[in-house]
Amino acid sequence: MSDLAIFGGPKAVTLPAGNMFDWPIITKEDEDACLEVLRRGGMSGTDVTTKFEEEFAAWNGTKYALGFSTGTASLQAAMYGAGVRTGDEIICPDVTYWASGLQAFSLGATVVFANVDPDTLCIDPNDIERCIGPRTKAIMCVHYLGHPCDMDPIMEIAKKHGLKVIEDVSHAQGGLYKGRKLGTIGDVAAMSLMSGKSLAIGEAGILVTDNREIYEHAMALGHYEHFTAKAITCPDLAPYVGLPFGGYKYRMHQLSSAVGRVQLKYYDERCVEIRKAMNYFWDLLEGVPGLRAHRVDESTGSNMAGWYAAKGLYRPEELGGLSVTRFCEAVAAEGAPASPGCNLALHTHPLFQTADVYGVGKPTRIAYADRDVRELDKALQPAVDIGKHTYNIPWFKHYVPEIIEQYAEAYKKCALNYKELLADDKGDPEVLGGFHFFRHTK
Ligand SMILES: *Cc1c(COP(=O)(O)O)cnc(C)c1O
Repeated sequence: MSDLAIFGGPKAVTLPAGNMFDWPIITKEDEDACLEVLRRGGMSGTDVTTKFEEEFAAWNGTKYALGFSTGTASLQAAMYGAGVRTGDEIICPDVTYWASGLQAFSLGATVVFANVDPDTLCIDPNDIERCIGPRTKAIMCVHYLGHPCDMDPIMEIAKKHGLKVIEDVSHAQGGLYKGRKLGTIGDVAAMSLMSGKSLAIGEAGILVTDNREIYEHAMALGHYEHFTAKAITCPDLAPYVGLPFGGYKYRMHQLSSAVGRVQLKYYDERCVEIRKAMNYFWDLLEGVPGLRAHRVDESTGSNMAGWYAAKGLYRPEELGGLSVTRFCEAVAAEGAPASPGCNLALHTHPLFQTADVYGVGKPTRIAYADRDVRELDKALQPAVDIGKHTYNIPWFKHYVPEIIEQYAEAYKKCALNYKELLADDKGDPEVLGGFHFFRHTK
């Protein structure tokens, strides 16, 4: 009989998962904080949010923090704050969640997509200069799945070409790049804090920066209450205080801020345990053919933050060409739910090709651009193929060696016995992954 569960062998994972995957960790302290706001009817106020912003800025090590209703809104405001206007371009990794770039449309701007590095899954610094045109304003750096972008070469390119750097920290709150906190390296950072993310507080986002001008312009877009004569020093904004430039209302919900204040207190220590668990999982798989960790060498002072939506790298050439789809079927049969793929290459969605969202008579992607930036998409086949080289792994929240060992064994067993899986391998579908994935914890 085969060793593999898919062929009737014993399953690798037999222990109950318990609370290994529950996230966020909600205690009575979170509940009490919410109830306090609810009972006094403070949901739409700003006092709790203001405290959260102060605490977040201090924790992040930045001068300013501005709360938002969503991460999407915070990133749009970061673009506006960074000076992205009609006709401008931002460079964005092709493999990320849509809200790292799509909001550029609402500013009359457009997106040029760059390839991602097959090991870091973050924007490939070597592909950025290819994307730069006369109207490029900013580089969007997404610390994808907790992996820090290689910021040194990116900052150098930005400096050379006079570009702003925006960090999308939605996957990597609290992470480090060579000892520096993510979200403090570029000109401005913004991020999601919604319930599926690593720092999960409800529907919310936050923007952080040391730059007063960026802060004020980001504020002007959708924070009419903050946008007052007292708060504003920029002369281009001063005449218009009182009404939001964008016609948006982006205030953070105070139930989110209340949860955020509690979550932030425990977040770093919880991430330490997550990293211990996830590093242990990968240590157990070290040297297994076909499988590579998506992680950084922590001795460099970098880390994987809260290891958001953890994935592994797949190298089929070491497994006789076994498709990642078939590999994941076998792993799932072992009791370790595995599925192939990650975020689909954004440029492949027709919204980035043909949609005329605002009725300009041209696809929105090129409505105000001085070049057909879609031409640059031709170099993005590597980004399209990333899905065939990734699969999800368990996102452990606790260090429980005996459980982690069983899950690691599931992946290891399938890789080592790959030859048995080749016969029934129907291959991968044309594209693997999705434009969004949100796993509820329970
Ligand atoms: C979730 C996410 C966002 C958007 O945040 P929301 O809070 O859902 O609006 C932006 N960028 C990335 C990389 C994300 O994963």
